[in-house]
Amino acid sequence: MMFAHLPASYVTMNATGRLWDRGLDEKERRVVYAVGIAAGIFPDIDGLFMPIHQHRASPLHTPVFWLAFCGLILTAALVVRQRRALLVSLAFVILMGAWLHLLLDAIFVGVRMFVPLSDDYFRFRGSISKRFDNWVVNYLLDPMFLTEVYVFAAAAMVFHTKRSGGFRVAFPALVNTNRKLLMVTGMITLAYMLDWFVVYPLLSST
Ligand SMILES: [Zn+2]
Repeated sequence: MMFAHLPASYVTMNATGRLWDRGLDEKERRVVYAVGIAAGIFPDIDGLFMPIHQHRASPLHTPVFWLAFCGLILTAALVVRQRRALLVSLAFVILMGAWLHLLLDAIFVGVRMFVPLSDDYFRFRGSISKRFDNWVVNYLLDPMFLTEVYVFAAAAMVFHTKRSGGFRVAFPALVNTNRKLLMVTGMITLAYMLDWFVVYPLLSST
């Protein structure tokens, strides 16, 4: 995943409000919301101090690092009683955001999921298509890019629904307020299906 980490955690934080806003006052809720959304890009901070093509080799791109990090926050929650609800919620959203990031990276590019048991990179599917010489074109035609389109569309739908409703976003309202966007997303999907299953096989068979 290249661009969709931020909108993915935005959608996740809005969909999981009930799980993390218990016992928080208004100010704390806003802090947890912002940190949770930012947590979706935290692992990529390693790109600042490592070459971009190998930044996923850092501890920030391993699930166990974030488990330990959030374990420390929970330990602090045991000591600092007045802020316990806030710290527990922060640990929850940081773990959720960072793990979501790693999962999205693992689908298409590969992540060392099982450190310290194994140093191997784990990936759900093969590397992006190599149909053309130009990697940008290959990337645009790849399922990874379509997935990013979906994530951005979902974020736009949540944003739109929140503006016309309240803080909480219910699924029926999401569909009702976004019919046009759903239609456009469906048409884009259709175009990709045509390309992958009709155009590409025809071109490669001649
Ligand atoms: Zn990443």
